[in-house]
Amino acid sequence: MRLRSKIHLYTSALFAVLLIVMNLSTYYMFSELSVNNQLDRAEAQAIQIANGMRQAAGEIPTQDLLRGYVPVDGMIRMIGSDGTGLPPVTSGSQQHLSKQKAIYDTTKRVQVIDDLDQTYISVSVPVIWSDGEVMNIQVTESMQSTMDTLQVLRIVLMVVTCIALIPVLFSIRLLGRLIMKPISAMTLTMKEIRRSGRFNRLELEGHSKDELMEMSMTFNDMIELLENNYKKQQQFVSNASHELKTPLTIIESYASLLKRRGMDRPELFHESIEAIHSEAIRMKEMTEQLLLLAKQKEQWNISIVKLNLSELAMGSAKAFRNAYRREIHVDGTPDVFGYSDENKLKQLLFIFLDNAQKYSDDDIVVEVGSLDDEAYIRIIDRGIGIASDKLPLVFDRFYRVDEARNRQGGGVGLGLSLAVEIAEVIGVRIELQSVEGKGTTAVIGMTREAPNIS
Ligand code: ADP
Repeated sequence: MRLRSKIHLYTSALFAVLLIVMNLSTYYMFSELSVNNQLDRAEAQAIQIANGMRQAAGEIPTQDLLRGYVPVDGMIRMIGSDGTGLPPVTSGSQQHLSKQKAIYDTTKRVQVIDDLDQTYISVSVPVIWSDGEVMNIQVTESMQSTMDTLQVLRIVLMVVTCIALIPVLFSIRLLGRLIMKPISAMTLTMKEIRRSGRFNRLELEGHSKDELMEMSMTFNDMIELLENNYKKQQQFVSNASHELKTPLTIIESYASLLKRRGMDRPELFHESIEAIHSEAIRMKEMTEQLLLLAKQKEQWNISIVKLNLSELAMGSAKAFRNAYRREIHVDGTPDVFGYSDENKLKQLLFIFLDNAQKYSDDDIVVEVGSLDDEAYIRIIDRGIGIASDKLPLVFDRFYRVDEARNRQGGGVGLGLSLAVEIAEVIGVRIELQSVEGKGTTAVIGMTREAPNIS
């Protein structure tokens, strides 16, 4: 059975049972109350009649008394202890009651009896008559009006149950449709994704914040994540296969050269090993950067903390100085603090320092300071610089300003695009200012106030 039918069936059945139980209990309570009321009233009336008759006994003939006290819709009679007595007196329409068997009761008795498809209350009250004998005065009265009222109530409740079920059924149908709509849309979209191989999204209608909308939004987020993952993997495969072709060809051609003539011409040996070594390093570096770029930002394990930027710059400069044997001066204000991820910020700093050492020969300056609510680190070189029309392009993947000029420096054009991704994830601002022939300044800016991390 489909979910929609299940919702429909179970909810309708539940509502119907609830309505029936409610109406049945209402009916039961009302009928109990009405019948009991009438019994009490009939009993009180019978006692009153019995008292009245006893007082008038002797003065008025008993048969006349019976006639005087006969109920509008019933019968009255007097029975002696031997079961005999005067003939019963009935109202016009209830003559058939006189055929009821006369039974003497020693105690007061109230009972409901049926006669000719009608319901009656019969009350028997023992009285001591004027001659000292204990007699029964029995008053029988029709309950038909109460029974009619209960019959009307039964019909009304039945009709009300049926009428009340109509809007309930409609709203259950509506509810089923409301719940099923996003689920059906999601199933349809999933089938479409499987069929077409495209990462389709659900269309989100309205601005509701309910669980169904949340589920649809989560589904869209998940599809976006999958799409990003897929794109990144595709990009990685195509970038890697494209970019690794050149160094692999160079390595292969030098290896072949060595194989053919390495033994006869030793001068070729040195050149080939040099080329193979540098291409291998380039490939390693490129693969590492490509792998990092292929990672989802969520997998980067970022932790934003308060950092002493002056100390961080000093430490990075020292490590760099040792590795590259280049002079780096750290200037600016001591103890400047900013909020970022320490490891990723260092990585960013290394990318800019690496570019500064690759594209300049003079000393490099690292400046730490703060302006308004921003703390910054500037990496300043006095190297070849970048032409203003090329400046916006240097952040693109694999873009190199001048391939020939950069080739010997070993750059693959991935450093700055990686810098953009890192900056975005750790929430810092990066900027390149450059004058061709004069030098370049890279700026890393970040907040000095603790950010709200949700
Ligand atoms: P690469 O690995 O080639 O350095 P990047 O993405 O880091 O790749 O830089 C892209 C290009 O931008 C470089 O090839 C270079 O031409 C230019 N560039 C980056 N930094 C500097 C700099 N400090 N001075 C001059 N040119 C630079």
